Amino acid sequence: MFSLQNKIALVTGAGSGIGAAIAETFARAGAFVFVTDRDEKSGGETAGRIKTQKGQAEFLALDVTNEENCQRVAQAVFDSQGRMDVLVNNAGIGHVGTMLQTSGADLDRLYAVNVRGVFNVTKAFLPDMLKRKSGNIINLASIGGVVGVRDRVAYCTTKFAVAGLTKSMALDHAQHGIRVNCICPGRVETPFVAARLKEYPDPEQARREMSTTQAVGRMGRPEEIAAAALYLASDESAFVTGTEFIIDGGFSAGK
Ligand code: NAD
Repeated sequence: MFSLQNKIALVTGAGSGIGAAIAETFARAGAFVFVTDRDEKSGGETAGRIKTQKGQAEFLALDVTNEENCQRVAQAVFDSQGRMDVLVNNAGIGHVGTMLQTSGADLDRLYAVNVRGVFNVTKAFLPDMLKRKSGNIINLASIGGVVGVRDRVAYCTTKFAVAGLTKSMALDHAQHGIRVNCICPGRVETPFVAARLKEYPDPEQARREMSTTQAVGRMGRPEEIAAAALYLASDESAFVTGTEFIIDGGFSAGK
């Protein structure tokens, strides 16, 4: 078991799915976790579950699209804990559609959360990491940020951008003791996927197809993604930076 004892972490979009699993896994590994989400109810519930299990957590409302909100949250974190060790940019939204089924507004909406959101939150915490010459940033990209996925023009566009931001930052800041990696999950059973399934004419058939397109014949579980985040957050992964950590049940291995 990797330890995050004495580490301060923050997870965006931690009210649901993968983000909630990461926050809970980090707390079990000993970290103090700032659970953030734009949804105060679900975010508060994640923090509550952690505290019930005797973990250390605090909920802070954070909409990653709001630059000023990001700066305020960073200040609150520094006032309370003095630093940020592990930043997990997890908040993200999806959309199903080919180019002609995707409006400019759809693309802008996805970009604002999936790319600009990562940018806003990272900018708020990076100066402190640079000052301390230490930091660990983990971005949730997607297998749709590594290979193309049918009917996901806007989503893949944003996730390839996250992978690019990750690699570029990894090069810029390796010399400053800051590691930047992204995790690229295949399909994972979360409310995110449930919402996407509803956009299909036959959600049940779509669910079966989604499961069988992965070599292992099933979707992933949020905890299986959280395990990768735990490794990347730990000191055991000190030699890992700029990577795309693919966890996709064989989705991208080939046909
Ligand atoms: P989810 O929908 O279950 O949870 C996303 C959380 O993000 C929600 O709690 C939501 O309130 C929050 N959020 C949305 N917009 C926000 C904003 N502007 N500011 C702050 N919080 C916001 O999603 P999930 O499946 O857990 O996905 C988490 C991340 O993993 C996303 O970046 C997603 O793109 C990525 N991902 C998911 C899958 C999958 O199959 N579930 C696959 C690959 C990548």
